Amino acid sequence: MNKIKTAILVTGTPGVGKTTVANKLASRLDAACICITEMVKNEKLITATDEQRQTLVADTKKLTKRVQDMLMELEGNIILEGHYVVDVVPKEHVNTVVVLRRDPHELKEVLEKRGYSEKKVWENIAAEVLDVCLWDAISTCGVENVCEIDVSNKTVETVIEEIVLVLERKQECTSGTIDWLGKLEITGELDEFLKKIG
Ligand code: ADP
Ligand code: MG
Repeated sequence: MNKIKTAILVTGTPGVGKTTVANKLASRLDAACICITEMVKNEKLITATDEQRQTLVADTKKLTKRVQDMLMELEGNIILEGHYVVDVVPKEHVNTVVVLRRDPHELKEVLEKRGYSEKKVWENIAAEVLDVCLWDAISTCGVENVCEIDVSNKTVETVIEEIVLVLERKQECTSGTIDWLGKLEITGELDEFLKKIG
């Protein structure tokens, strides 16, 4: 019987470093890297444009089908990256989900540099602080397949090393241990952040 083709998924809030890390990891593992967001744009796999959020709304049905076809076609290791990647890869095709996490202060800097509106910056900080991508990954792919990696204050190379260790099962795969809310509380910034998040 044919073995079901599985992929490594890299997810996280916009700005955490998914595209950078996934591409570097792909070279390291000699894998193909597919950026879901790019694919949606290039192949126009969209249902609508959310003007208010300045984003495209992906057609998840078409996208899921396209991803499945791709998994059948491609040889070798595959890495798929995107902030809603867990919603478009059927669970049986998931090897490991790497959820990148980034300190909200660092994330704010990245998103501001990107030129996001203040509203969009805080929407994404809220998602990071409230672990949205993590819980999405856990509920869709199962806690046993999800590994959280804190990229804050680390070089891309350090992050890659850590992910490789996790994939080789030389480092424990953990999730649910990163607590930005707790950190903000300790530094006395929680109220200020919550007000901004609204
Ligand atoms: P995403 O795809 O999650 O939106 P990007 O890969 O575009 O994020 O990365 C956002 C920014 O963070 C880029 O400027 C990138 O160079 C930087 N970056 C990515 N990973 C790291 C890291 N581990 N340490 C420092 N900066 C990083
Ligand atoms: Mg990206």
